[in-house]
Amino acid sequence: MHDPIQSIETNNAATDGAAADQPIVRIRGLRKSYGSLDVLKGIDLDVRRGEKVSIIGPSGSGKTTLLRCINRIEKPSGGHVYVDGQLIGEKLVGDRYIDMEDRELARLRAGMGMVFQRFNLFPHLTALQNITIGPMKVLRTPATEAEAAALALLEKVGLANKRDAYPEMLSGGQQQRVAIARALAMRPKVMLFDEATSALDPELVGEVLSVMKQLASEGMTMIIVTHEMKFSEEISDRVIFMDHGTVVEQGSPEEIFRTPSHLRTQTFLRAVL
Ligand code: ADP
Repeated sequence: MHDPIQSIETNNAATDGAAADQPIVRIRGLRKSYGSLDVLKGIDLDVRRGEKVSIIGPSGSGKTTLLRCINRIEKPSGGHVYVDGQLIGEKLVGDRYIDMEDRELARLRAGMGMVFQRFNLFPHLTALQNITIGPMKVLRTPATEAEAAALALLEKVGLANKRDAYPEMLSGGQQQRVAIARALAMRPKVMLFDEATSALDPELVGEVLSVMKQLASEGMTMIIVTHEMKFSEEISDRVIFMDHGTVVEQGSPEEIFRTPSHLRTQTFLRAVL
């Protein structure tokens, strides 16, 4: 039987020889503008396999846009993103970059699990069906196999007893945990979290953070946009502070939260801590 949890770990481990020490995510010169508004002004960032990187910064600094450009929900205005050595959304033909076909992009996007602020579950599907639909449609996983994997994932996020519940019957925290299970079902190489807890009532935040912590302890590569500074400090290998579309500074949680070197980081942290 196909073991989804084993697969996640295998997928995420450094299994492909020469590529093992390459960054799993490589971002070069990433830019995004909306009209005359330059939201990302040339971001360079490498994320190692298994690394937990959190991105903090003031509202409007471009954090969400960065995540959306990584998995190409938004098309960048410039620069390139590679995941596991593979260029995302474009191909190099001669010396020109051309857009990749939608089907190929969908396949690559499946390798990046995205968890949104709003849970984005399909309202007309049960928890189980929300999890199986991606593997069945995109990965062509047979239904029985997809279901077994989905059940194991529901178990993992503590919701095995909610398999037949529709999203409206679930609390926000439960919906978000199903959303995490749904992303994991695609056996992603990296998980992207976009303020995954900021739409939740305070008493429901903990259950989602604890699932994220468990995932981190299992070696998943995670890029986490968050306002939860304590969580960020606890979970991250590296913290990135963004402001006005640039990476202002980055370092260990200790460096960023205790001894930030930039005035902008200091000012931001004074306001939020
Ligand atoms: P953050 O996540 O740090 O709060 P965002 O990436 O959401 O920042 O937004 C950065 C800036 O880009 C903001 O000024 C926002 O208004 C603008 N922006 C984001 N998406 C769009 C869009 N689709 N059209 C126009 N402006 C946008």
